[in-house]
Amino acid sequence: MRGSIWMSALGGEVLYEEDLPACCQRSARGQERSFECPACGAMWQTALPMHPEEDAFSQPDLDERKGAA
Ligand SMILES: [Zn+2]
Repeated sequence: MRGSIWMSALGGEVLYEEDLPACCQRSARGQERSFECPACGAMWQTALPMHPEEDAFSQPDLDERKGAA
């Protein structure tokens, strides 16, 4: 299973978490959006998946409430 996809904040590189340099991989753990590697100074930010807003449209709670009445 692939981990997060990280994009260099300076542009260019897009790497899977396991393909990051070891120092950056360690720094990436627990980060959700962006981080700066204290070891090598590289800055990374998440490369968003293709449909980042998909969750916004699937809200089963709303439909359930309507039907529950
Ligand atoms: Zn690093």
